[in-house]
Amino acid sequence: GRRIVTIDGPAGAGKTTVSKALARELGWVYVDTGALYRAVAFEIKRQQINWEDSAQLERFLACLDLDFVMDGPDPVLTSSGRDISAYIRTNEISMLASATSAIPQVRRALLGIQKSIAAERDAVFEGRDMGTAVFPNASYKFFLTADVNVRARRRFEESNASGISFGKILEDMIKRDADDTQRPVSPLKQAPDALLIDATALNVSQVVEKMKSIIKK
Ligand code: C5P
Repeated sequence: GRRIVTIDGPAGAGKTTVSKALARELGWVYVDTGALYRAVAFEIKRQQINWEDSAQLERFLACLDLDFVMDGPDPVLTSSGRDISAYIRTNEISMLASATSAIPQVRRALLGIQKSIAAERDAVFEGRDMGTAVFPNASYKFFLTADVNVRARRRFEESNASGISFGKILEDMIKRDADDTQRPVSPLKQAPDALLIDATALNVSQVVEKMKSIIKK
């Protein structure tokens, strides 16, 4: 089978930066599964779907057409052929993605696209349930975390143009982590065979080096 690295952990721990850098060094493809959940949230908002109505949600999911286009260094997520990456990084979409990702129908609908990429390529998958629910047999599993204040500070520095306060980002991050951890389906948790890396006092290259040293063995 294909080789898979999974990187799970809470928001703002540096999963995206680390996963991209690791994938580049290994020459593997990088897959941001959070972007799938963000795309669902974005489309729910854009199409004004009442996601608490399960028949309406089911019709919406059946028509959903998400795809990772593999033409640059990192795959670009499209929705019905449109690059939506510019619209899915807002705080509002983060919170809506967290709420809607707790719905079992939503998680089920996104399973196929994740599995099909893994069937074709060696890949680094980033998310919340990669090492637990989606790829329990992954070759290498990591759980990346950091102090919540450090994580919120990082998000605050990334979002400086949006006018949102540090306090609001911290508060929303604590809520999102709690919701992601406590939901009944595929909650955020460390797989028993995942290596825990606390990045509070580590920079990106230190984390990547640590991962690489294990993958080479
Ligand atoms: O990783 P990111 O912050 O982009 O993910 C947005 C939200 O999508 C998370 O808060 C989580 O609720 C959801 N998610 C998930 N499972 C994944 C990846 C993301 O439930 N594998």
